[in-house]
Amino acid sequence: MSDIFSVPELFGSDVFNEATMRQRLPEQVFTAWKTCVTTGSQLTLEVANEIAEAMKIWATEKGATHYTHWFQPMTGITAEKHDSFIAPTGDGRVIMEFSGKELVKGESDGSSFPNGGLRATFEARGYTAWDPTSSAFVKDGSLYIPTCFFSYTGESLDKKTPLLRSMDEVSREALRILRLFGDTESKRVIASVGAEQEYFLLPKDLYAQREDLRLTGRTLFGAQPPKGQELDDHYFGTIRTRVSSFMKDLDEQLWRLGILSKTKHNEGAPCQHELAPIYTDANTACDDNQLIMEIMKKCAAKHNLVCLLHEKPFAGVNGSGKHNNWSLATDSGKNLFSPGKTPSQNARFLLFLAAFLAGVDEYQDFLRCTVASAGNDHRLGGGEAPPAIISVFLGDELNAIIRSIIDGTKYREQQKTLLRVGVDVMPPIPKDTTDRNRTSPLAFTGNKFEFRMLGSSQSVAEPNIALNTIMAEELSRFADVLENALDFDKALHELVCEAFTKHQRILFDGNGYSEEWKEEAVRRGLSNYPSAAVALPSLIQEKNIDLVVRHGIYTEPEFRARYAIHLESYNKIVAIEARTMVDMALHQILPAALRYTKELCDGLTVKQQLSIPCHAESVLVKHLSLNTEALYDAIDTLRHTLEAVPKEAEAAAAYYHDTIIPGMNAIRSAADMLETLTAKTHWPYPTYSDLLFY
Ligand code: ADP
Ligand code: MG
Repeated sequence: MSDIFSVPELFGSDVFNEATMRQRLPEQVFTAWKTCVTTGSQLTLEVANEIAEAMKIWATEKGATHYTHWFQPMTGITAEKHDSFIAPTGDGRVIMEFSGKELVKGESDGSSFPNGGLRATFEARGYTAWDPTSSAFVKDGSLYIPTCFFSYTGESLDKKTPLLRSMDEVSREALRILRLFGDTESKRVIASVGAEQEYFLLPKDLYAQREDLRLTGRTLFGAQPPKGQELDDHYFGTIRTRVSSFMKDLDEQLWRLGILSKTKHNEGAPCQHELAPIYTDANTACDDNQLIMEIMKKCAAKHNLVCLLHEKPFAGVNGSGKHNNWSLATDSGKNLFSPGKTPSQNARFLLFLAAFLAGVDEYQDFLRCTVASAGNDHRLGGGEAPPAIISVFLGDELNAIIRSIIDGTKYREQQKTLLRVGVDVMPPIPKDTTDRNRTSPLAFTGNKFEFRMLGSSQSVAEPNIALNTIMAEELSRFADVLENALDFDKALHELVCEAFTKHQRILFDGNGYSEEWKEEAVRRGLSNYPSAAVALPSLIQEKNIDLVVRHGIYTEPEFRARYAIHLESYNKIVAIEARTMVDMALHQILPAALRYTKELCDGLTVKQQLSIPCHAESVLVKHLSLNTEALYDAIDTLRHTLEAVPKEAEAAAAYYHDTIIPGMNAIRSAADMLETLTAKTHWPYPTYSDLLFY
């Protein structure tokens, strides 16, 4: 527990934030930093030296002895390498030193990070470069410096660099539009993100007894418990004492790091919880979400709990996702997705809305791929999370407005007017009608879009890179037209009307879980990629490569590297899961079932000799034997198929999906049947009841 009890005092106390910088830096140094952050200008080495010195003094006062360049390699988690501040004085003593050069650039042996073929092995060096737009902080005795990570030849090897590029790009294009609406004030448009994080907590001792949880983060086996989540008694229920002390501790640690942790509650599944921070700019939100995930895990361990971030730790109960709330706002805080009160504000809103719908429709595949992973395959389309088909929910009011614009008809019969963009006032959009449909993958919720397809364990970088980039693309096309228009209002109306007309197929307000929607989506020509293996190859379509290269988000090799890494990671995850299943089935489940069968047989023989009724035993033995046979066959098959995985990554992914996963399902169904037949005393690990209702 901390010695500071006031939250405002605690908040951000371990962050070298703007307030601290203003206090500790000479005025001209602070101004140089501030200009760099707002306009993207370069910092001189003298300024960097001054900042480094102030950072060091501040960090050592907080007990830091080391510094680390903190970066986000393409694995989706974070990496760090710590150096101490010590420098020898030559007479056997040391002083604490930290220079601008050390702050600005670092060298890291990058060879152990996935590079998707971007670096030849002879050139394994990777470099890190300070990102002055996100704050340094002190954690566990080190000064953490957020950095970008790139190769010797300058290719980006991380998730932060393309995110920053996409933020710049959407800002630039959005400003072009704002200028057309007479806004000469705004200097920047900020992509803003609030990422709600779901997770499970389990007792550490139970977790430790399951190899599947330890090696893969999810249960690969487990018969359904007698009680699931059907009573809905967990959702928003009272939080258990152990969990609530974990949450208190977690909040305190996050607040120290300046993370705006705001809400916490129980989720739908037993043992499932959620944390939502207040939204910030996309870059900070992404850094913060990485820290939230990391600190959740560490903090859980302190409370004898384990935090599972896997998308689907348990079959049959809800999995975990991440809701990515996204919007665009000007540097003075004007939200560009807020429906306005005047015709001009309305028109601006409708233009941004039209651009968003156009982007989502044209780049469905790109968006789908940013949430594609082996773990998320268990959720998307599974009737608990959004379907794998991308569509946008807008609610009745907005749909009616769009209809009226498309058809050139009156908006609502009782109002006798047409709705002309830029001329008429739009009726107010009641906020509470916009958030009803929980089955939609992308819902408009009043003044932001909630992208609900993200997996709980993934970085939020890629989905936001995609959202920013598709938005930049459509805004730039609109700006090209409008900048040359003779009659602005007329051109604007035509543009918006055309976009709504062309892209209306992406709008869907019905039940996204239903079978009818799948059929309807096919009729509309929307893509439906039910798994990552099927989705991922669509990432590197010509049109996507063209988009990201044209906007300078990725070079083609950088983009292809991301594709290679996603495929590789899918293949590795399924392979590890399959091998873990074989191991557990062969060394734990089969022996347990056979021991129990033998015990029953022993009793059966004695009873038969004494002519005592033994129907129960003989039926049980029969069922056990049938299922042990089935299990053994399934193990044997899976082992053989695992030996025949194709070498080439795309073919391997298809093979894992089409052959290995069905093989895993066969093992699981025999094993779970055995669990229901075998005495509890013989079963080798905690069951779903033990884990979920501890
Ligand atoms: P709920 O989804 O429970 O209705 P809220 O609407 O309060 O919750 O917000 C959910 C998340 O969306 C929070 O992280 C919040 O900070 C974030 N959020 C709110 N407004 C915006 C916005 N304009 N842009 C991005 N995120 C936002
Ligand atoms: Mg939400």
